[in-house]
Amino acid sequence: MRNIPFGKPMIGAEERQSVLEVLNGTTLVHGPRVTRFEASFSEFSGAPHSVAVSSCTAGLHLFYLAIGVGAGDEVIVPAQTHVATAHAIEFCGAKPVFVDVLNHTGNIDPAGVEAAVTERTRAISVVHFLGVPVDMDLILSIADTHGLLVVEDCALAIGARYKNLHVGLHGDVGCFSFYPVKHITTAEGGIVITRDQDFAEKIATLRAFGVNRHHGERKIAGDYDVPLLGYNYRMNEIEAAIGLEQIKKLPEFLKLRKQNFTYLEQKLVDCRNISFFTNENEKCQSSYYCFSILLEGKLLNKREEIIQFLNNKGIGTSIYYPKAVPMMKYYKKKYGYSGEEFPNASRISEQTISLPVGPHLNLEDMQYMANHVTQALKIAEN
Ligand SMILES: *Cc1c(COP(=O)(O)O)cnc(C)c1O
Repeated sequence: MRNIPFGKPMIGAEERQSVLEVLNGTTLVHGPRVTRFEASFSEFSGAPHSVAVSSCTAGLHLFYLAIGVGAGDEVIVPAQTHVATAHAIEFCGAKPVFVDVLNHTGNIDPAGVEAAVTERTRAISVVHFLGVPVDMDLILSIADTHGLLVVEDCALAIGARYKNLHVGLHGDVGCFSFYPVKHITTAEGGIVITRDQDFAEKIATLRAFGVNRHHGERKIAGDYDVPLLGYNYRMNEIEAAIGLEQIKKLPEFLKLRKQNFTYLEQKLVDCRNISFFTNENEKCQSSYYCFSILLEGKLLNKREEIIQFLNNKGIGTSIYYPKAVPMMKYYKKKYGYSGEEFPNASRISEQTISLPVGPHLNLEDMQYMANHVTQALKIAEN
């Protein structure tokens, strides 16, 4: 039997060596590695500005702080995403206005976005679900019409491109995650990218207490003031050291993900009672986060049985995401949802199984997985 975890951090000798160098030195925070990591990320993504932070959630929160979102304001978000996408709005006392997603991609429905705009709307938050870019032209045109800002939650979409431009650079800012199961990791960590220098500077100030002059800029110790209420959302040197090695490996990781994804798609295409999300098209290049199958017909509501079968064979699975965000207790209670409002998000959360395609898996792993998934589906059909 094979052991195929859903996600496995790809930490090698290079990461270990780099972390040791940090630990053997004197600078754990406010050092050169964070700056170098930001430069590497800018080079990879083509972003004019990159600001490393402690998590993707912190990055999203900092964006809302930077634009002054607060009580009485609304931000439009997809109903099918990580809770962090909505939490960051709640942190500011503003209201996340959930919009259902498209059945074939899991991305926010542009028609729903248009319908959700009110006088209180300040911004639109989009999530490139499982790494497939949102149709940004449609979102940007709605934002333009109503004078709204756009934030891209790119936690699953590093390497994804829309019309050949990296995701995160279409809206006002893009936020990425380096949590262990994402494409690359720094243990905990995130980064905000933007074309706008003012946003970059404001977010950089807010990530470190609102201090106006960081260590390298002070002529004498203590030569700083605090014009803003900032947070402590910095990335540290240990995390940046890991990130600097990870980003060198990212092109290879992305290639392997695509290879594994394509293999699985070809092997499962003839299975009955399942369908797949639309992945790439002429405008969209995916980051191939994972391979999700949607159960249909005779396989509806057979998810637990299928997952159990796969787990028994050593195959790890995941669910993106196990409940539509407005159906999570906190939101359901606070905003009084009945449970019927977001049928596509609910269907995706209830009837999909996500399979791993990460660079920790080789061709034999993929063959093993394809065979057992095929078998599991056949058994569950009857
Ligand atoms: C993982 C994830 C986050 C949270 O990222 P952290 O770095 O853990 O804060 C946010 N949004 C989406 C879509 C995610 O998948």
